Amino acid sequence: MTKTITVLGSTGSIGRQTLDVAAELGLSIAALAADRNVELMETQCRRFRPRLAAMTDLHAAEELKTRLADMNTTVLAGEQGVVEAASVQEAATVVVAVTGFAALRPTLAAIREGKRIALANKETMVCAGHLMQQEAKKHGAEIIPVDSEHSAIFQCLMGCRDRAQVRRLILTCSGGPFYGRTREALTSVRAEDALCHPTWRMGAKITIDCATLMNKGLEIIEAMRLFSLPLGKIDAVIHRQSVVHSLVEFCDGAVLAQLGTPDMRIPIGLAISYPDRVQNPAPALDLLSCGPLTFAPIDETVFPCFRLAKQAAISGGTACTHLNAANEAAVAGFLAGKIGFYEIAEAVADALTLPSDPEPSLEDIIEADRSTRAYIRERYALA
Ligand code: NDP
Ligand code: MG
Repeated sequence: MTKTITVLGSTGSIGRQTLDVAAELGLSIAALAADRNVELMETQCRRFRPRLAAMTDLHAAEELKTRLADMNTTVLAGEQGVVEAASVQEAATVVVAVTGFAALRPTLAAIREGKRIALANKETMVCAGHLMQQEAKKHGAEIIPVDSEHSAIFQCLMGCRDRAQVRRLILTCSGGPFYGRTREALTSVRAEDALCHPTWRMGAKITIDCATLMNKGLEIIEAMRLFSLPLGKIDAVIHRQSVVHSLVEFCDGAVLAQLGTPDMRIPIGLAISYPDRVQNPAPALDLLSCGPLTFAPIDETVFPCFRLAKQAAISGGTACTHLNAANEAAVAGFLAGKIGFYEIAEAVADALTLPSDPEPSLEDIIEADRSTRAYIRERYALA
Protein backbone atom coordinates (compact mmCIF):
# COMPACT_ATOMS: atom_id res chain seq x y z
CA MET A 1 0.00 0.00 0.00
CA THR A 2 1.12 3.54 -0.77
CA LYS A 3 2.55 5.27 2.32
CA THR A 4 2.32 8.87 1.10
CA ILE A 5 -0.71 10.57 -0.40
CA THR A 6 -1.81 14.00 -1.59
CA VAL A 7 -5.33 15.26 -0.90
CA LEU A 8 -6.94 17.79 -3.25
CA GLY A 9 -10.02 19.33 -1.65
CA SER A 10 -8.78 18.44 1.86
CA THR A 11 -11.10 20.89 3.66
CA GLY A 12 -14.30 19.37 2.23
CA SER A 13 -16.44 16.46 3.37
CA ILE A 14 -14.47 13.79 1.46
CA GLY A 15 -11.14 15.53 2.11
CA ARG A 16 -11.68 15.55 5.89
CA GLN A 17 -12.74 11.91 5.89
CA THR A 18 -9.66 11.07 3.80
CA LEU A 19 -7.43 12.64 6.45
CA ASP A 20 -9.26 10.55 9.10
CA VAL A 21 -8.42 7.42 7.14
CA ALA A 22 -4.82 8.61 6.60
CA ALA A 23 -4.40 9.17 10.35
CA GLU A 24 -5.82 5.71 11.09
CA LEU A 25 -3.45 4.08 8.58
CA GLY A 26 -0.44 6.19 9.59
CA LEU A 27 0.04 7.61 6.08
CA SER A 28 2.19 10.67 5.33
CA ILE A 29 0.73 13.62 3.48
CA ALA A 30 2.83 15.12 0.68
CA ALA A 31 0.51 17.97 -0.30
CA LEU A 32 -2.89 19.43 0.56
CA ALA A 33 -5.03 21.71 -1.60
CA ALA A 34 -8.32 23.59 -1.26
CA ASP A 35 -9.98 26.78 -2.42
CA ARG A 36 -10.40 29.31 0.42
CA ASN A 37 -10.93 27.75 3.86
CA VAL A 38 -7.70 29.05 5.44
CA GLU A 39 -8.73 28.28 9.01
CA LEU A 40 -9.12 24.55 8.43
CA MET A 41 -6.18 24.37 6.03
CA GLU A 42 -3.90 25.83 8.70
CA THR A 43 -5.14 23.23 11.23
CA GLN A 44 -4.60 20.40 8.71
CA CYS A 45 -1.09 21.63 7.82
CA ARG A 46 -0.08 21.82 11.48
CA ARG A 47 -1.37 18.30 12.07
CA PHE A 48 -0.13 16.55 8.92
CA ARG A 49 2.95 18.69 8.04
CA PRO A 50 2.74 18.43 4.22
CA ARG A 51 5.69 19.69 2.16
CA LEU A 52 3.27 21.73 0.05
CA ALA A 53 -0.13 23.40 0.52
CA ALA A 54 -2.07 25.12 -2.27
CA MET A 55 -5.12 27.38 -2.23
CA THR A 56 -6.87 28.44 -5.43
CA ASP A 57 -8.10 31.69 -3.90
CA LEU A 58 -5.19 34.15 -4.01
CA HIS A 59 -6.12 36.01 -0.79
CA ALA A 60 -6.53 32.73 1.06
CA ALA A 61 -3.08 31.59 -0.14
CA GLU A 62 -1.51 34.87 1.02
CA GLU A 63 -3.15 34.52 4.44
CA LEU A 64 -2.05 30.88 4.74
CA LYS A 65 1.54 31.85 3.94
CA THR A 66 1.52 34.35 6.82
CA ARG A 67 -0.05 31.86 9.24
CA LEU A 68 2.42 29.08 8.35
CA ALA A 69 5.53 31.29 8.48
CA ASP A 70 6.96 29.15 11.31
CA MET A 71 6.61 25.90 9.30
CA ASN A 72 8.45 24.16 6.46
CA THR A 73 5.30 23.90 4.31
CA THR A 74 5.59 25.76 0.98
CA VAL A 75 2.36 27.59 0.16
CA LEU A 76 1.29 27.91 -3.48
CA ALA A 77 -1.54 30.00 -4.96
CA GLY A 78 -4.08 29.74 -7.76
CA GLU A 79 -5.09 26.91 -10.06
CA GLN A 80 -1.44 26.40 -11.03
CA GLY A 81 -0.60 25.90 -7.36
CA VAL A 82 -3.20 23.11 -7.12
CA VAL A 83 -1.77 21.55 -10.31
CA GLU A 84 1.68 21.55 -8.68
CA ALA A 85 0.25 20.02 -5.51
CA ALA A 86 -1.32 17.28 -7.67
CA SER A 87 2.07 16.54 -9.22
CA VAL A 88 4.36 16.33 -6.13
CA GLN A 89 6.74 13.49 -6.59
CA GLU A 90 6.56 11.82 -3.12
CA ALA A 91 2.85 10.91 -3.34
CA ALA A 92 2.02 7.70 -5.21
CA THR A 93 -1.71 8.34 -4.71
CA VAL A 94 -3.69 11.54 -5.20
CA VAL A 95 -7.17 11.70 -3.67
CA VAL A 96 -9.28 14.02 -5.83
CA ALA A 97 -11.96 15.50 -3.57
CA VAL A 98 -12.22 18.96 -5.14
CA THR A 99 -15.81 19.58 -6.15
CA GLY A 100 -16.86 20.32 -9.74
CA PHE A 101 -15.15 20.90 -13.08
CA ALA A 102 -12.35 22.81 -11.29
CA ALA A 103 -10.74 19.45 -10.52
CA LEU A 104 -10.02 18.70 -14.19
CA ARG A 105 -6.57 20.26 -14.72
CA PRO A 106 -5.11 19.06 -11.40
CA THR A 107 -6.49 15.54 -11.99
CA LEU A 108 -5.00 15.40 -15.48
CA ALA A 109 -1.66 16.61 -14.05
CA ALA A 110 -1.67 13.77 -11.49
CA ILE A 111 -2.63 11.26 -14.20
CA ARG A 112 0.27 12.45 -16.38
CA GLU A 113 2.63 11.80 -13.45
CA GLY A 114 1.39 8.17 -13.50
CA LYS A 115 -0.11 8.37 -10.02
CA ARG A 116 -2.97 6.36 -8.63
CA ILE A 117 -6.05 8.57 -8.68
CA ALA A 118 -8.53 7.92 -5.86
CA LEU A 119 -11.36 9.73 -7.61
CA ALA A 120 -14.24 11.13 -5.57
CA ASN A 121 -14.96 13.94 -8.02
CA LYS A 122 -17.49 12.85 -10.64
CA GLU A 123 -17.88 16.03 -12.69
CA THR A 124 -14.47 15.51 -14.37
CA MET A 125 -15.38 11.95 -15.45
CA VAL A 126 -18.71 13.19 -16.81
CA CYS A 127 -17.10 15.96 -18.90
CA ALA A 128 -13.75 14.47 -19.88
CA GLY A 129 -13.83 10.79 -18.92
CA HIS A 130 -12.61 9.59 -22.30
CA LEU A 131 -9.56 11.91 -22.18
CA MET A 132 -8.79 10.95 -18.57
CA GLN A 133 -8.90 7.26 -19.48
CA GLN A 134 -6.73 7.80 -22.57
CA GLU A 135 -4.13 9.71 -20.55
CA ALA A 136 -4.25 7.16 -17.73
CA LYS A 137 -3.50 4.38 -20.20
CA LYS A 138 -0.67 6.36 -21.75
CA HIS A 139 0.99 7.22 -18.42
CA GLY A 140 0.23 4.01 -16.51
CA ALA A 141 -2.03 5.77 -13.99
CA GLU A 142 -4.82 3.83 -12.24
CA ILE A 143 -8.15 5.52 -11.62
CA ILE A 144 -9.92 3.94 -8.62
CA PRO A 145 -13.42 5.24 -7.86
CA VAL A 146 -14.31 6.63 -4.44
CA ASP A 147 -17.95 7.48 -5.24
CA SER A 148 -19.72 4.79 -3.17
CA GLU A 149 -21.77 3.30 -6.03
CA HIS A 150 -18.77 3.07 -8.34
CA SER A 151 -16.58 1.67 -5.60
CA ALA A 152 -19.27 -0.99 -5.07
CA ILE A 153 -19.30 -1.85 -8.78
CA PHE A 154 -15.49 -1.84 -8.88
CA GLN A 155 -15.55 -4.36 -6.02
CA CYS A 156 -18.23 -6.54 -7.66
CA LEU A 157 -16.13 -6.60 -10.85
CA MET A 158 -12.97 -7.79 -9.08
CA GLY A 159 -12.19 -11.13 -10.68
CA CYS A 160 -14.37 -10.52 -13.76
CA ARG A 161 -11.96 -11.15 -16.65
CA ASP A 162 -14.30 -10.27 -19.51
CA ARG A 163 -16.52 -7.16 -19.44
CA ALA A 164 -18.76 -8.85 -22.05
CA GLN A 165 -19.99 -11.09 -19.20
CA VAL A 166 -21.61 -8.09 -17.52
CA ARG A 167 -25.31 -7.87 -18.35
CA ARG A 168 -25.92 -4.63 -16.48
CA LEU A 169 -24.84 -2.37 -13.63
CA ILE A 170 -27.51 -1.33 -11.13
CA LEU A 171 -26.73 1.87 -9.24
CA THR A 172 -28.63 2.44 -6.03
CA CYS A 173 -30.00 5.87 -5.15
CA SER A 174 -31.14 7.03 -1.72
CA GLY A 175 -33.86 9.16 -3.35
CA GLY A 176 -32.69 12.26 -1.48
CA PRO A 177 -34.72 14.47 0.86
CA PHE A 178 -37.68 14.85 -1.55
CA TYR A 179 -38.42 11.22 -2.34
CA GLY A 180 -42.17 10.56 -2.59
CA ARG A 181 -43.16 14.25 -3.03
CA THR A 182 -45.15 15.55 -5.98
CA ARG A 183 -43.96 18.15 -8.52
CA GLU A 184 -46.42 20.69 -7.09
CA ALA A 185 -45.04 20.20 -3.58
CA LEU A 186 -41.50 20.78 -4.81
CA THR A 187 -41.98 23.98 -6.82
CA SER A 188 -41.43 26.21 -3.78
CA VAL A 189 -38.74 24.29 -1.86
CA ARG A 190 -35.66 26.26 -0.90
CA ALA A 191 -31.97 25.39 -0.46
CA GLU A 192 -32.31 24.80 3.30
CA ASP A 193 -35.01 22.16 2.64
CA ALA A 194 -32.78 20.43 0.11
CA LEU A 195 -29.70 20.47 2.32
CA CYS A 196 -31.03 17.80 4.72
CA HIS A 197 -29.96 14.49 3.18
CA PRO A 198 -31.49 11.40 4.85
CA THR A 199 -28.41 9.11 4.90
CA TRP A 200 -25.22 10.91 3.77
CA ARG A 201 -23.46 14.08 5.08
CA MET A 202 -21.82 15.78 2.10
CA GLY A 203 -20.83 19.14 0.60
CA ALA A 204 -23.60 21.56 -0.45
CA LYS A 205 -23.32 21.07 -4.23
CA ILE A 206 -23.61 17.28 -4.21
CA THR A 207 -26.39 17.48 -1.61
CA ILE A 208 -28.48 19.61 -3.98
CA ASP A 209 -27.62 17.19 -6.81
CA CYS A 210 -29.03 14.41 -4.60
CA ALA A 211 -32.24 16.40 -4.09
CA THR A 212 -32.75 16.90 -7.86
CA LEU A 213 -31.43 13.38 -8.64
CA MET A 214 -28.92 14.98 -11.02
CA ASN A 215 -26.39 13.18 -8.86
CA LYS A 216 -27.70 9.82 -10.07
CA GLY A 217 -27.72 11.09 -13.66
CA LEU A 218 -24.09 12.21 -13.34
CA GLU A 219 -23.27 8.85 -11.78
CA ILE A 220 -24.74 6.95 -14.74
CA ILE A 221 -22.39 8.85 -17.07
CA GLU A 222 -19.52 8.39 -14.59
CA ALA A 223 -20.17 4.61 -14.64
CA MET A 224 -20.20 4.56 -18.47
CA ARG A 225 -16.76 6.25 -18.53
CA LEU A 226 -15.22 4.29 -15.64
CA PHE A 227 -16.35 0.84 -16.74
CA SER A 228 -16.55 1.35 -20.55
CA LEU A 229 -20.19 0.27 -20.78
CA PRO A 230 -23.03 1.77 -22.85
CA LEU A 231 -25.98 3.61 -21.31
CA GLY A 232 -28.27 0.64 -22.10
CA LYS A 233 -26.34 -1.53 -19.63
CA ILE A 234 -26.70 0.84 -16.68
CA ASP A 235 -29.82 1.19 -14.52
CA ALA A 236 -30.58 2.97 -11.26
CA VAL A 237 -33.10 2.11 -8.52
CA ILE A 238 -34.22 3.89 -5.38
CA HIS A 239 -32.92 2.22 -2.24
CA ARG A 240 -33.76 4.41 0.75
CA GLN A 241 -31.53 2.69 3.31
CA SER A 242 -28.17 3.28 1.49
CA VAL A 243 -26.93 -0.13 2.66
CA VAL A 244 -26.62 -1.84 -0.75
CA HIS A 245 -24.18 0.50 -2.50
CA SER A 246 -24.71 -0.92 -6.02
CA LEU A 247 -24.95 -4.22 -7.91
CA VAL A 248 -23.63 -6.00 -10.99
CA GLU A 249 -25.75 -8.51 -12.91
CA PHE A 250 -23.78 -11.04 -14.96
CA CYS A 251 -24.78 -12.94 -18.11
CA ASP A 252 -25.56 -16.12 -16.12
CA GLY A 253 -28.12 -14.25 -14.01
CA ALA A 254 -25.89 -13.99 -10.91
CA VAL A 255 -26.12 -10.60 -9.20
CA LEU A 256 -23.32 -9.39 -6.92
CA ALA A 257 -23.79 -6.46 -4.54
CA GLN A 258 -21.56 -4.61 -2.06
CA LEU A 259 -23.11 -3.71 1.27
CA GLY A 260 -21.89 -1.59 4.16
CA THR A 261 -22.78 1.27 6.47
CA PRO A 262 -23.22 4.54 4.57
CA ASP A 263 -19.74 5.83 5.47
CA MET A 264 -17.45 7.23 2.78
CA ARG A 265 -14.35 6.23 4.72
CA ILE A 266 -14.86 2.66 3.43
CA PRO A 267 -14.55 3.48 -0.32
CA ILE A 268 -11.86 6.10 0.44
CA GLY A 269 -9.82 3.50 2.35
CA LEU A 270 -10.19 0.89 -0.38
CA ALA A 271 -9.12 3.31 -3.14
CA ILE A 272 -5.93 3.97 -1.16
CA SER A 273 -5.17 0.39 -0.06
CA TYR A 274 -6.35 -1.57 -3.15
CA PRO A 275 -5.69 -4.43 -3.90
CA ASP A 276 -5.38 -4.93 -0.14
CA ARG A 277 -8.12 -4.39 2.40
CA VAL A 278 -7.09 -2.74 5.66
CA GLN A 279 -8.65 -1.63 8.97
CA ASN A 280 -11.08 1.27 8.63
CA PRO A 281 -12.56 3.62 11.27
CA ALA A 282 -16.11 3.21 9.79
CA PRO A 283 -18.63 1.32 11.97
CA ALA A 284 -19.48 -2.26 10.97
CA LEU A 285 -22.82 -3.07 9.30
CA ASP A 286 -25.36 -4.63 11.65
CA LEU A 287 -27.77 -6.59 9.44
CA LEU A 288 -30.20 -7.12 12.30
CA SER A 289 -30.71 -3.41 12.90
CA CYS A 290 -30.53 -1.92 9.37
CA GLY A 291 -34.21 -2.70 8.76
CA PRO A 292 -35.88 -4.08 5.61
CA LEU A 293 -34.03 -3.26 2.40
CA THR A 294 -36.39 -1.78 -0.19
CA PHE A 295 -36.11 -0.98 -3.92
CA ALA A 296 -38.31 1.25 -6.12
CA PRO A 297 -38.20 2.93 -9.57
CA ILE A 298 -37.11 6.56 -10.12
CA ASP A 299 -39.89 9.04 -10.99
CA GLU A 300 -38.48 11.01 -13.95
CA THR A 301 -41.42 13.45 -14.01
CA VAL A 302 -40.76 14.68 -10.50
CA PHE A 303 -36.97 14.51 -11.03
CA PRO A 304 -36.36 15.63 -14.65
CA CYS A 305 -32.60 16.13 -14.09
CA PHE A 306 -32.17 12.35 -14.08
CA ARG A 307 -33.76 12.09 -17.52
CA LEU A 308 -31.75 15.07 -18.84
CA ALA A 309 -28.48 13.42 -17.81
CA LYS A 310 -29.41 10.30 -19.78
CA GLN A 311 -30.28 12.55 -22.73
CA ALA A 312 -26.78 14.10 -22.54
CA ALA A 313 -25.24 10.62 -22.29
CA ILE A 314 -27.00 9.64 -25.55
CA SER A 315 -25.78 12.82 -27.31
CA GLY A 316 -22.23 12.32 -25.93
CA GLY A 317 -19.33 14.70 -26.70
CA THR A 318 -19.67 18.17 -25.21
CA ALA A 319 -23.36 17.61 -24.36
CA CYS A 320 -22.15 16.12 -21.06
CA THR A 321 -20.08 19.26 -20.39
CA HIS A 322 -23.10 21.45 -21.24
CA LEU A 323 -25.18 19.41 -18.79
CA ASN A 324 -22.59 19.66 -16.01
CA ALA A 325 -21.72 23.34 -16.48
CA ALA A 326 -25.37 24.41 -16.53
CA ASN A 327 -26.02 22.31 -13.45
CA GLU A 328 -23.03 23.76 -11.53
CA ALA A 329 -24.10 27.32 -12.39
CA ALA A 330 -27.78 26.68 -11.60
CA VAL A 331 -27.06 24.86 -8.32
CA ALA A 332 -24.89 27.81 -7.21
CA GLY A 333 -27.84 30.09 -8.11
CA PHE A 334 -30.28 27.90 -6.17
CA LEU A 335 -27.97 27.82 -3.11
CA ALA A 336 -27.79 31.64 -3.29
CA GLY A 337 -31.62 31.85 -3.38
CA LYS A 338 -31.63 33.36 -6.89
CA ILE A 339 -33.60 30.64 -8.70
CA GLY A 340 -36.18 28.01 -7.79
CA PHE A 341 -35.81 24.24 -7.57
CA TYR A 342 -37.22 23.42 -11.02
CA GLU A 343 -35.23 26.20 -12.66
CA ILE A 344 -32.18 23.97 -12.16
CA ALA A 345 -33.69 21.42 -14.57
CA GLU A 346 -34.88 24.23 -16.88
CA ALA A 347 -31.34 25.65 -17.09
CA VAL A 348 -29.92 22.21 -17.82
CA ALA A 349 -32.55 21.60 -20.53
CA ASP A 350 -31.65 25.00 -22.07
CA ALA A 351 -27.97 24.07 -22.13
CA LEU A 352 -28.75 20.79 -23.88
CA THR A 353 -30.10 22.74 -26.87
CA LEU A 354 -26.57 24.08 -27.51
CA PRO A 355 -24.80 22.39 -30.45
CA SER A 356 -22.63 19.51 -29.24
CA ASP A 357 -19.14 18.64 -30.51
CA PRO A 358 -19.02 14.81 -30.85
CA GLU A 359 -15.23 14.42 -30.38
CA PRO A 360 -13.98 17.31 -28.27
CA SER A 361 -10.35 17.95 -27.34
CA LEU A 362 -9.44 19.12 -23.83
CA GLU A 363 -9.50 22.73 -25.05
CA ASP A 364 -12.97 22.21 -26.59
CA ILE A 365 -14.25 20.83 -23.26
CA ILE A 366 -12.78 23.73 -21.27
CA GLU A 367 -14.33 26.21 -23.71
CA ALA A 368 -17.71 24.40 -23.64
CA ASP A 369 -17.66 24.60 -19.83
CA ARG A 370 -16.80 28.32 -19.84
CA SER A 371 -19.33 29.36 -22.50
CA THR A 372 -22.19 27.28 -21.04
CA ARG A 373 -21.72 28.79 -17.58
CA ALA A 374 -21.65 32.28 -19.09
CA TYR A 375 -24.83 31.54 -21.10
CA ILE A 376 -26.74 30.17 -18.09
CA ARG A 377 -25.56 32.94 -15.74
CA GLU A 378 -26.77 35.57 -18.17
CA ARG A 379 -30.05 33.86 -19.04
CA TYR A 380 -31.01 33.32 -15.38
CA ALA A 381 -29.44 36.57 -14.07
CA LEU A 382 -27.00 34.63 -11.87
CA ALA A 383 -23.88 36.77 -12.38
P1 NDP B 1 -17.25 19.85 -0.30
O1 NDP B 1 -17.99 21.02 -0.84
O2 NDP B 1 -17.49 19.41 1.09
O3 NDP B 1 -15.68 20.11 -0.47
C1 NDP B 1 -15.13 20.56 -1.68
C2 NDP B 1 -13.64 20.71 -1.53
O4 NDP B 1 -13.12 21.19 -2.78
C3 NDP B 1 -13.22 21.74 -0.47
O5 NDP B 1 -11.99 21.36 0.06
C4 NDP B 1 -13.05 23.01 -1.31
O6 NDP B 1 -12.19 23.98 -0.72
C5 NDP B 1 -12.41 22.41 -2.55
N1 NDP B 1 -12.54 23.24 -3.74
C6 NDP B 1 -13.68 23.74 -4.29
N2 NDP B 1 -13.37 24.45 -5.40
C7 NDP B 1 -12.03 24.40 -5.54
C8 NDP B 1 -11.12 24.96 -6.45
N3 NDP B 1 -11.53 25.72 -7.48
N4 NDP B 1 -9.80 24.69 -6.27
C9 NDP B 1 -9.36 23.93 -5.23
N5 NDP B 1 -10.18 23.40 -4.33
C10 NDP B 1 -11.50 23.62 -4.48
O7 NDP B 1 -17.53 18.65 -1.35
P2 NDP B 1 -17.55 17.09 -1.07
O8 NDP B 1 -16.35 16.68 -0.28
O9 NDP B 1 -18.89 16.68 -0.61
O10 NDP B 1 -17.41 16.53 -2.57
C11 NDP B 1 -16.18 16.57 -3.27
C12 NDP B 1 -16.32 15.77 -4.57
O11 NDP B 1 -16.56 14.41 -4.24
C13 NDP B 1 -17.51 16.22 -5.44
O12 NDP B 1 -17.16 16.13 -6.79
C14 NDP B 1 -18.60 15.21 -5.11
O13 NDP B 1 -19.49 15.00 -6.17
C15 NDP B 1 -17.78 13.96 -4.82
N6 NDP B 1 -18.43 13.01 -3.91
C16 NDP B 1 -18.72 13.39 -2.63
C17 NDP B 1 -19.35 12.52 -1.76
C18 NDP B 1 -19.60 12.87 -0.33
O14 NDP B 1 -20.04 12.01 0.44
N7 NDP B 1 -19.35 14.09 0.10
C19 NDP B 1 -19.76 11.18 -2.22
C20 NDP B 1 -19.39 10.87 -3.56
C21 NDP B 1 -18.75 11.77 -4.37
P3 NDP B 1 -12.77 25.11 0.33
O15 NDP B 1 -13.23 24.33 1.54
O16 NDP B 1 -11.57 25.92 0.61
O17 NDP B 1 -13.87 25.81 -0.37
MG1 MG C 1 -22.49 8.40 -5.09
